[in-house]
Amino acid sequence: MIILKSKEEIELLRKSNQIVANLLNDLRELIKPGITALELDAYVEKRIREKGAIPAFKGYRNFPASLCISINDQVVHGIPNSRRLNEGDIVSLDLGVILNGFYGDAAITVPVGKINKEAKKLLDVAEKALYKGIEQARIEKRLYDISHAIQSWVEGNGFSVVRDFVGHGIGRNLHEDPQIPNFGSPDRGVQLKTGMVLALEPMVNVGTWEIKVETDGWTAVTKDGGLSAHFEHTIAITEDGPDILTVVP
Ligand code: MG
Repeated sequence: MIILKSKEEIELLRKSNQIVANLLNDLRELIKPGITALELDAYVEKRIREKGAIPAFKGYRNFPASLCISINDQVVHGIPNSRRLNEGDIVSLDLGVILNGFYGDAAITVPVGKINKEAKKLLDVAEKALYKGIEQARIEKRLYDISHAIQSWVEGNGFSVVRDFVGHGIGRNLHEDPQIPNFGSPDRGVQLKTGMVLALEPMVNVGTWEIKVETDGWTAVTKDGGLSAHFEHTIAITEDGPDILTVVP
């Protein structure tokens, strides 16, 4: 069941999501060769708590950290460790918080220093894929119009979309209905409605879309070892179109 949000609830969701957007911005500045994922995680947890919010991922199905950090061929759900970031890496940062009972959720993939041409193209295509999806988040559209726009943009650029993880509704729960695949046929799925709040999150691979989960039970990596990128915004659907909640105020 899709839970529609009132205007007041959307404003509360905006507050949670603005915290996420702010912190991802700060992390973007901190990312440089030599820093470890554990240091970034510790920083972000401290900042979340200073703002009176709660890290949403820590303890979620026993996930041990506040931040998911996925490097290079890691797709999502990487557990922070003491590995130092290297020049040329790409790093996906996925962050969730809870404020006043409402969840915020977003992700970005950022370069570490100078990255190669393929990695640059991947980041560009994956970030634009998210906006291709957002453009479709309108009341005259149906759910898989979002999915189709993302898939056709990504595949048109020679990359692939991950099938195993999907976007989701969000509100008083981190994962609500509907599930939002990043692939599918247009003009299918539920009609989009004012008050839907959705976390859209394409995961884009340079090579095969297939992934596997490592023995830690969390870290998803590409099956062929190719690079992967992940961008996510939480948006509200309004009469006037999509309203991105994960932006810095
Ligand atoms: Mg999400």
